[in-house]
Amino acid sequence: MKKPIVDKEKCQGHMVCVGVAPEVFEIDENGKSEVVNPEGADEETIQQAIDGCPAEAISWKE
Ligand code: SF4
Repeated sequence: MKKPIVDKEKCQGHMVCVGVAPEVFEIDENGKSEVVNPEGADEETIQQAIDGCPAEAISWKE
């Protein structure tokens, strides 16, 4: 199953991903997004988060 991963080097903390899929992404103590539950939303929703991230920090890991 595909899982989203966040590149914390690229993440700017815009929180678009958290807005789109709050079950999947959370902001950590450094203001960066992290994946807390890769199965917290369907693929289409996660893809919206990927497409919406201004920093292009989210990608799929097969
Ligand atoms: S939308 Fe992108 S830049 Fe913003 S918090 Fe999520 S991963 Fe980071």
